[in-house]
Amino acid sequence: MKLAEYEFEIEHKPGKKHVNADSLSRHIASMRPEEATLTEMSDLTEVGLTREAVFDAQRKDAYCRCKVEEIEAQQELGFVLSTNGLLYKGDKLSEAKLVVPETLVRKVIQRHHDTVFAGHQGIKRTGNLLKLHYYWPNMNRDVETYVKQCESCSKLKVGKNPRRW
Ligand SMILES: [Zn+2]
Repeated sequence: MKLAEYEFEIEHKPGKKHVNADSLSRHIASMRPEEATLTEMSDLTEVGLTREAVFDAQRKDAYCRCKVEEIEAQQELGFVLSTNGLLYKGDKLSEAKLVVPETLVRKVIQRHHDTVFAGHQGIKRTGNLLKLHYYWPNMNRDVETYVKQCESCSKLKVGKNPRRW
C-alpha cells in the first residue's frame, strides 16, 4: 500500500524535465549579459539573412566552430557569443563584428557591392564597408576576388576608362 501511494504521488508531480535547456544554458553561460545588444538584428536583416540561417551556417563552419569552442572553454581570444548564440569578433558585443561563415561570404559581399546603395564600389571601399559590421578570415582576398570578377564592374571600367591590353 505504501508503495502504491508513493508511485501515485510521483506520477502527479509536474514534469520538470520537459524543457531541454542544455544547449541554451551553455550559450548563456559563455556570454556576459551586459554585452548583449540589438545590433545583431540590423546587421542580419541588412544582408537578408535570418538569425537561424547564420547560426546554422556558423555551427557548420570549421573556423566558427573552433572559435565557439574556444569561448566555451573560457579561452577567449577576442571573440564573443551573443545572447542568441551568434559568434562575433571583438572584445565587446557592442563593437564586435559578425563572423561570416564561409558559405555566406559571397552573399554578404554581394549585398555590399551589387545593390543600389552599395553601387559597385572598388575593392578598398567595398572592403571598408564590410569591415564596419563583419569579419571573416581572408576578407581582403575574398573582396578583391569578388570585385575583380564582377561583370558589371568590368563593363563600367571599359566604358569609363578603356584600357589597351
Ligand atoms: Zn561590381
